[in-house]
Amino acid sequence: MKRPIRLPLVFAAGVSLIGCAASPRWDDRVGRKAAQDVAVSMGLVEDRALQAYVNAIGQRLARDIERPKFRYSFHLVDMDVPNAFALPGGYVYVTRGMLALANSEDELAGTIAHEIGHVEERHAASRQRAATLPILGSLPGAVVGSLVDEGLGNLMAMPFERAGARFLAGYSREQERAADRYGQRLAARAGFDPHALSTCLAGIERYERHSGVGSDTPSHLHTHPDTAERVRTTAQFASQLAWAPRPGQGASRSRYMKRIDGLIVGDNPGRGVIDNEHVAHPDLGIALTVPSGWEMATIPRQALLSVAPQRDGLFIAQAPIDEKSSSKVAQALQQALVRRGFQLGQGGSTTINGLSAYRTTAYYDGRARTRLDIACIEHESRVFTLMGMTAEVPGHDRSDAIGRAIDSFRPLTPEQRNGFTVERLRVATANEGESLLELGTRVDNTWGHDQLTALNGLDENVAFRAGQQIKYVRAERYAPKAWRK
Ligand SMILES: [Zn+2]
Repeated sequence: MKRPIRLPLVFAAGVSLIGCAASPRWDDRVGRKAAQDVAVSMGLVEDRALQAYVNAIGQRLARDIERPKFRYSFHLVDMDVPNAFALPGGYVYVTRGMLALANSEDELAGTIAHEIGHVEERHAASRQRAATLPILGSLPGAVVGSLVDEGLGNLMAMPFERAGARFLAGYSREQERAADRYGQRLAARAGFDPHALSTCLAGIERYERHSGVGSDTPSHLHTHPDTAERVRTTAQFASQLAWAPRPGQGASRSRYMKRIDGLIVGDNPGRGVIDNEHVAHPDLGIALTVPSGWEMATIPRQALLSVAPQRDGLFIAQAPIDEKSSSKVAQALQQALVRRGFQLGQGGSTTINGLSAYRTTAYYDGRARTRLDIACIEHESRVFTLMGMTAEVPGHDRSDAIGRAIDSFRPLTPEQRNGFTVERLRVATANEGESLLELGTRVDNTWGHDQLTALNGLDENVAFRAGQQIKYVRAERYAPKAWRK
């Protein structure tokens, strides 16, 4: 299975997010905006109990911040790469990959406390780096974004999948060290083991070594090759800190394992399953094929975008709306297009792979004549809108490719819909003297030996004690969920 390519969007215009970075109000303003971007572009894990758990650990730490500058919220991001990051103003995120990699509540707390350190010490503001947002300005008809959907205009001006990246990438070595020390002090004060940040960093270092994790993933943990050095430094610093564990929190491995048992690792089929140009969505029960060779980007729960290599064609599949009539949706869209100066082409009712649909075209005379192909398609009391845009310029007209993409929209059969698999983290209880390899075989583990070693924070080739809780990964049938926006 191939992952969507991250769109290297054209930096046509720079939108500065930097006002006066001198006051914490800057953090509030910039943070709030970026938090919206993160929720949309990365997506949060839809599991209230787990979200509440992460927030509870964070709030437990936040209570012990001396003279806190911000009000904190803590969130679980639907990403498989182990990572944590913070936005100015107190928005702290850990990925589900981080949750899976941690081996105790103490490790999770250590990671969160480190991020609180970045926020309280205002590392993002002190960088004063001008943030720029990419805009799809090079496409024919710069109006493309705003006409698709109220929100999509703004979304298209976003760096997909990496909205928070500008706040992740640029911490200096000194800032990382400062956040480590801050986090360890805070963790100790709140009754979490300050040594856990060190073991957590060691786990990340091991994970990176074993999985060759994507270097295109924004992570301050990756931009600092001196993780091994930080493991040592934080271990030393922890030994100088006095702390006392509190009842009901921290060390218990089995309690933490119970929390994360069942967590999705790897790709989440609920966000769509992408196999080269083929896209299937088990929750929505549909599939389509985007033009071959076009770059793809997904905005979780919002849209799938596909752009031609020469940037002369754009195909968008929007998340559906609750509405039964495709012609009604098409009419509303046509009215919006007319208001924006488009001329309407011929339109009419039709079927696409057995589904009732309304197809039409619209044109815009800009520098070149821009053609818009629109299909509104009915499926299960919802209407999907597909849209293709290209310029009617010889050699650049991508109408045929767009037409084929629209024609490919199809319902999944019940067998197809229930035929997807998902990898979930599971917890097994070891037998006395059992090796990781033996345990893995016994429980049908699907991950490699090295990855499993890293996942459990183990040294190679240990023999387990009876009752030891060991994480492994199992491929399970994905049960499609009721879709909601
Ligand atoms: Zn950091």
